[in-house]
Amino acid sequence: SDDLLRVRNLSTRFFTEDGQVNAVEDVSFTVREGEVFGIVGESGSGKSVTALSLLDLVESPGRITDGEIWYRNPEVADTYSGEFVDGDFVDVVRLPESVRRSLRGPSFSMIFQDPMTSMDPSVTVGEQIAEAVEVQRRASANPRSTRSRTQGYALGSLLADTLVPTRGYVSDEAWDRAVSLLEDVGIPDAADRAHEYPHEFSGGMLQRAMVAQALAGEPDLLVADEPTTALDVTIQAQILDLLEDVQAERDTSIVLITHNLGVIARMADRVGVMYAGEIVERGTLADVFDDHVHPYTRGLVESVPDIDDPDPRLDPIEGNVPSLLDEEMGQRCYFADRCPKAMEECLEKPAEFDVGGDEHAAKCYLADHEYAESRALSADHFEEVA
Ligand code: SF4
Ligand code: MG
Repeated sequence: SDDLLRVRNLSTRFFTEDGQVNAVEDVSFTVREGEVFGIVGESGSGKSVTALSLLDLVESPGRITDGEIWYRNPEVADTYSGEFVDGDFVDVVRLPESVRRSLRGPSFSMIFQDPMTSMDPSVTVGEQIAEAVEVQRRASANPRSTRSRTQGYALGSLLADTLVPTRGYVSDEAWDRAVSLLEDVGIPDAADRAHEYPHEFSGGMLQRAMVAQALAGEPDLLVADEPTTALDVTIQAQILDLLEDVQAERDTSIVLITHNLGVIARMADRVGVMYAGEIVERGTLADVFDDHVHPYTRGLVESVPDIDDPDPRLDPIEGNVPSLLDEEMGQRCYFADRCPKAMEECLEKPAEFDVGGDEHAAKCYLADHEYAESRALSADHFEEVA
């Protein structure tokens, strides 16, 4: 099917007092229409910063320093011209801010880990969703005239500068739409519950409401960063069911970010494995689980004895993730210190990675070798270090 999002050579850095943190380093992947693209990695591997980068929500002292993020949006691509337009695609990195705003909501939206801190506690759930509906309507009618009042909260910051200051006002139409979105995401008695405040919702119900809010602009892509991590196991499964329904019924693509390989196995069509700010391997679920090339992927997958374990810990390989402050980053394979297969060339420069394609690829010199052979060779080495 068609591509919806093409990320090319994305780098996001934070300029801190301690130095430059390379949180996302030369990341490339493609998300197709209607698919779930999973990004899996340990905490601190750059998954969340990747998510924020996709939505242009990285805040100072961080910023995208390199790369392109192309969304398919024929309407916007038709309206504008410039180096940020290529066919039906527009590059949000180079897009003027005024145009970029009009993509938030209709093109992409985000679901965060903790619903409790992602909604404004002082505004009813229905009103917050109705506002999101209202904002989308006005933003698409007139992308320049608007401003946020819920800044600091999830959707507020997503839509920063796109909300009309309408405290206390939502149209009947927007309210009805909010109630119907709440029904869609499985909130019982939605018409009544819409009048409640976030603290009156359970964690699972509030996460459903977050999904409803994220759907207000009918986005082509939902970015979900650890959407079930803060929830208990049975509720986690229900939220995953809901995301599956959303994906199937609306043909929404989802970038699903998680440390949980069980969630990946259940949900993802294709997967990117992140390590130390890089995607080190990318492919279909089967490529990554059964035919992995990169020793990190291998460690990750083999560290989970039972994929049905609801929350398997990622604790794949001895040793520490390298400091993302490391000045030598980009000059060698970042995994070399922990890699049972490390060779001299790995310390001289990192392996190449096919950024343009979306076939199975690994950022590892072993990818050049006959895979079956390398796997046979590495098994013993692996047991030795493990
Ligand atoms: Fe190991 Fe070398 Fe592959 Fe890096 S490039 S993962 S050090 S074999
Ligand atoms: Mg995170």
